[in-house]
Amino acid sequence: MNDQTTKPTSTKGPRCLHYTDRGRRCQLPVVDTRSGFCFRHAKPLPAPSDSVDLSAELIGELYEFEFAVDINKFLAKLLVLVTKGRVSPRRASVLAYITNQLLHSHRAIDREIDAQSGEDAVAQVLRNIPRPIRDEPPKVS
Ligand SMILES: [Zn+2]
Repeated sequence: MNDQTTKPTSTKGPRCLHYTDRGRRCQLPVVDTRSGFCFRHAKPLPAPSDSVDLSAELIGELYEFEFAVDINKFLAKLLVLVTKGRVSPRRASVLAYITNQLLHSHRAIDREIDAQSGEDAVAQVLRNIPRPIRDEPPKVS
């Protein structure tokens, strides 16, 4: 038996730290650098808790969510935390749903304000159409 068969992964990086009951070291490469174990012997990371307070990271200075850009910033932060594994997909789904409801409420508020002012959307468009200037009489050449 040559040296390459006993250590097939020695040139690919560190080997797993797991030892069998007979005292043989696992030959597989390390995939979890924190624990030093291979994919077979590394323990799965605990699922992120849904009750951890992430308000400082997720909300920060965005506390009113008055504008769509605030919700956009929140969703971007949420995406980062989900991809890092700090927020469970379930919790992220709930938070994304709530932000969607906030966006819908913004539109509802706008409609209420328009209704209270007695002006509907068509009236707003008609009011904002540029009008011809009729102060000067047309020049005849
Ligand atoms: Zn291993």
